[in-house]
Amino acid sequence: MKLWRATSDQTAIGHLPSPLIATLENLESESIVLTLDEGIVYTSQGIDAIGLVKENRINSEELMALIRVVRRTNEKQIGTIEIPRGPIGEGKRELRVTVAPITESDWVLVLVRDESEIERVAQVRRDFVANVSHELKTPIGALSLLSEAILGAKNDPQAVTQFASRMQSEAHRLTDLVQEIIDLSKVQDSDPLQEAEEVRINDVIEEAMNQCRTLADSRKIWVNAFDIHDVLVLGDREQLVMAIHNIIENAINYSPENTKVAITTKITGDIVEISVADQGIGIADSELERIFERFYRVDPARSRQTGGTGLGLSIVKHVITKHGGEIKVWSAPNVGSTFVMKLPIFKRERN
Ligand code: ADP
Repeated sequence: MKLWRATSDQTAIGHLPSPLIATLENLESESIVLTLDEGIVYTSQGIDAIGLVKENRINSEELMALIRVVRRTNEKQIGTIEIPRGPIGEGKRELRVTVAPITESDWVLVLVRDESEIERVAQVRRDFVANVSHELKTPIGALSLLSEAILGAKNDPQAVTQFASRMQSEAHRLTDLVQEIIDLSKVQDSDPLQEAEEVRINDVIEEAMNQCRTLADSRKIWVNAFDIHDVLVLGDREQLVMAIHNIIENAINYSPENTKVAITTKITGDIVEISVADQGIGIADSELERIFERFYRVDPARSRQTGGTGLGLSIVKHVITKHGGEIKVWSAPNVGSTFVMKLPIFKRERN
């Protein structure tokens, strides 16, 4: 395939012929064109969002290795590479890359497709369906038994009232469960960095706190924010509110009455850390690893009492990881827990 012939001054950093640019811009894949000395002459618009190019250089050793193979062999290479979603955290993007020599020039074309979403969504669906059906069976089974009990006790108004009120709480539980399942699947299916908006951290914290106000009052827990920095992060506002809300709600639910929950922020380099500290029941070391798993609860009976579904923290972990951040927890039984959500800062405003 003959694309075009590079003239001697085109072999230095120069411009691509416009028909080639038009072709690259119409492709579904993102693209990069490199010169012999690995300088970048062209990147398509979406490349910045993928984070594969930094300071006009390729930001992935794996991709550079493929490019060198193409230079050596002059043959097209196809591979899958992983790059971090943000400067911290375990979130990764899986990219399918095709690297090809551009005929009769020393330049190399790289085509990039983000495949992580497709594979991950398929895997998540498979696991999820199995867990969800199991979890839904408990309240549905309880509703069925209770309705039978009501039928059997129709001449005993006191028993009917008692069974009916238990039915009501099972129905609430079912509603909460379905809502959290919907929230989790929304979070899993979306990529907050693809249609990101600028989100003000202090607004998000305020909204999450307001949503928890009634619960906090009913449980006599003081929820206060201190040292909140006015910084902007990139992402999905609604998801970030949901994440912080879930952490504050847990702090309230797993604390005895007349205790405090403190929300603070701290800036470390380009990262904002949002901490939620409680004086609650705490979590044993052996459980800390598992609490972010879907449907995992340390004490299912207590979680049930507070209306917990075991999905809250997995939603939080998804949201924070997909925003290129990470979540850490420190905890000691009967002392309390501190959850720290770290997110990359997009812009700082003055306090
Ligand atoms: P749940 O809906 O059960 O609260 P989560 O996913 O939010 O589910 O949390 C998982 C488990 O982690 C909880 O069931 C609880 O055992 C534990 N946990 C979460 N937050 C706290 C906290 N602040 N203090 C003590 N335990 C907590």
